[in-house]
Amino acid sequence: MPKKHINAQPDLVDDDGVRLFFKPVQKKAEKTRTKIKRSKSLDNNAVSGIVVSPAGPKWWVKGLDASLLCTVSGTVDCSHTSTMVAVGDRVWVVPLVEDEGADGEVVHQNEAMIVKVEPRSTLLSRKAAGKQDKEQVLVANVNQLCVVVSTVMPTYNKRLIDRYLIAADKGDLRPIIVVNKTDLLADEFQQDVIDDFDVYANKLGIPVLMVSAAKNTGIEELEAHLTGAETLFSGPSGVGKSSLINRLTKSNLRIGDISEYYEKGTHTTTGALRIELPCGGAIVDSPGLREFAIWDLDPQEVQFYFEEFIPYTTKCRFTSCTHTHEPDCAVKEAVDNGELDVERYLSYMYILHGNADEHER
Ligand code: GDP
Ligand code: ZN
Repeated sequence: MPKKHINAQPDLVDDDGVRLFFKPVQKKAEKTRTKIKRSKSLDNNAVSGIVVSPAGPKWWVKGLDASLLCTVSGTVDCSHTSTMVAVGDRVWVVPLVEDEGADGEVVHQNEAMIVKVEPRSTLLSRKAAGKQDKEQVLVANVNQLCVVVSTVMPTYNKRLIDRYLIAADKGDLRPIIVVNKTDLLADEFQQDVIDDFDVYANKLGIPVLMVSAAKNTGIEELEAHLTGAETLFSGPSGVGKSSLINRLTKSNLRIGDISEYYEKGTHTTTGALRIELPCGGAIVDSPGLREFAIWDLDPQEVQFYFEEFIPYTTKCRFTSCTHTHEPDCAVKEAVDNGELDVERYLSYMYILHGNADEHER
């Protein structure tokens, strides 16, 4: 579990030491034509399933025996008020039945209606583009975030990794870092990369796994971290996410094929996709996370996401120190004398200044 910073500023924590901005904010009910009806007794024909992917205005729901293409019922039983249905939601669906008159009923084999959405254990959301104060839930019920990068082609970018780690912290997800394409790295450079990730592995206690999808190395260890969990996969394109998912699912399907299978020829490529693992648990592949990762932060909050800074922030001369230009700043001193990782400090500066460009300062 991500650590809550109990020594954060008093006005930012509640009595239990939990950061206040972790507390769910009561949202106003969405204006929607779908009515929320609580505790409605379930239809006898209802079966449970998990939402695996959007399909235009509909959803693919994986039930025990089949995948069902589902619409949302006019009255749905659910306790949340924002984004009625999201990938990862546990739902109850009623198969659609067409009355064929004297010949009896004909059941549409793979069509159904979502009548109930179970309460969410976790959710990742972002502000919907263009609309103020409207929350859009990207995925529900995931508990880990696996940040996938590659040694080279493309070379990993620690600024981006640090943004993803903030996203994980914000969403209360356990982070894992996977460094793929180790096969492309000459032996003498392997240790350099391991050293480069030392701050994550040893200071922050985040699992860092060196793998190669091509050579099938490190996959078992990765599998051990994913077993039984609901893991969001994220990272830049081209780092090998699809290749790793293929290894993990022991399938030869390309992700494009998997989406096509669920979407049955529609061209929706923007939604998240939940893929079950043979070892138990599932991976959710969400293209929307890139935006989530750069969800705007209050400048005052940023330092609390760099938890290794916390022991130093209390020693700065000014309590309002932003650790940028102020004199007698204990954070800057710790960076200068090597106690704090200089790259993490750079990420802090970029994020604080809302600046994503590595080369601009
Ligand atoms: P995604 O965009 O993150 O899903 O990446 P892909 O799985 O599509 O991989 C991008 C490219 O990198 C493809 O050409 C893969 O064959 C290649 N690739 C993936 N993993 C490895 C690896 O471990 N080693 C090498 N050498 N190439 C890899
Ligand atoms: Zn300072």
